[in-house]
Amino acid sequence: MLRLSPLHLHQPRDLAQAVALLAEHGPQARLIAGGTDVLPSLKLGQTQAGVLVSLRRVPELLGIDLQDGQLRIGAGTRLAEIATDADVLAHLPALAHAASRVASPQIRNMGTLGGNLCLDTRCRFINQSDLWREALGGCLKSHGSECHVVPGGQNCVAALSSDTAPVLIAYGATLELLGPQGTRELALVDLYGADGRHHVLLQPGEVLVAVRVPLPGPGTRVAYRKWAVRKSIDFPLVSVAVRLDVAAGRLTGGTLAAGALNPRPRVLDLAKWAGRAVDADLAAELGQFAFDRCRPLPNVPYDAEYRRERLAVEVRRAVLELGVIPS
Ligand SMILES: Cc1cc2nc3c(=O)[nH]c(=O)nc-3n(C[C@H](O)[C@H](O)[C@H](O)COP(=O)(O)OP(=O)(O)OC[C@H]3O[C@@H](n4cnc5c(N)ncnc54)[C@H](O)[C@@H]3O)c2cc1C
Ligand code: SF4
Repeated sequence: MLRLSPLHLHQPRDLAQAVALLAEHGPQARLIAGGTDVLPSLKLGQTQAGVLVSLRRVPELLGIDLQDGQLRIGAGTRLAEIATDADVLAHLPALAHAASRVASPQIRNMGTLGGNLCLDTRCRFINQSDLWREALGGCLKSHGSECHVVPGGQNCVAALSSDTAPVLIAYGATLELLGPQGTRELALVDLYGADGRHHVLLQPGEVLVAVRVPLPGPGTRVAYRKWAVRKSIDFPLVSVAVRLDVAAGRLTGGTLAAGALNPRPRVLDLAKWAGRAVDADLAAELGQFAFDRCRPLPNVPYDAEYRRERLAVEVRRAVLELGVIPS
């Protein structure tokens, strides 16, 4: 059985207390929400913490509210609730779908939106036991000096495997953050950096409070597609969200956000296809575009070239799914 090293657990009753605890304990403190990512990582020695600050009893992080043309989702909202909430299903169906595809029912009942967006990166060389990693001599992210995916590389290129990040980027989500310096807003797309060791660009002591998503207009549709080996539990090996904005039967703009490639989603603008009908030809072209612009690395399981071809297929299928948009 894997055991946790001794640590201190704090259970603040409000957001201000949580922020104060993070400031008091500094770099040795980690936030824990559902714990479905951080606890296995601590047990496997993939991450370290002397202090855990739990968000489970912080009421300000809960709730899904329609306000001012936006849907505001508290960072502590469980994925199972997001997958079945009537407002999310009505206005952001691709988000409900993405949340319903995370892991298993047990994990969706514990795992939160905030934890899913701040998920650690994954790599087949580090998501292993301590012994396995030691035998390899570690790596940049794990007590070593070399990256085994990109030998000679200076950055860790482990993949962000969050199911909700690509789809929320496609919906144009922004984040409410609270830290020792006060509150600030950040576009979700700017949350992620290029180094898989520190890919979540929160400032020290900052907490993700809520995600705000503008309600899409009648001509906007988003589809999310994920490929994993076992549909019932696995992380995505290919994931993509496609957003198409359509007026009078023609494309006016769009976004493609691919996950499970690098520490941050690959975001591509589809503006150059403005004026085109959403049909099989467009689907094939956008699939080819994704193939040309995205290069999966051997950082997660499965052949990288297969994942590249699979990404093109998933983009094509996403566009065909959306092709029934009324003009
Ligand atoms: C077997 C298995 C399968 C899985 N499959 C998938 C999958 O298919 N797709 C997928 O996306 N994920 C998957 N996961 C990962 C994980 O379960 C989910 O991503 C889940 O949503 C994480 O949420 P959590 O609340 O449990 O996060 P936690 O484990 O509590 O936290 C994760 C990280 O986020 C930080 N954090 C949490 N909340 C906040 C906040 N409000 N502000 C700032 N930082 C915060 C924590 O400090 C930690 O670094 C899987 C996990 C397991 C064990
Ligand atoms: S990408 Fe490289 S540095 Fe990062 S976890 Fe994998 S092997 Fe380690």
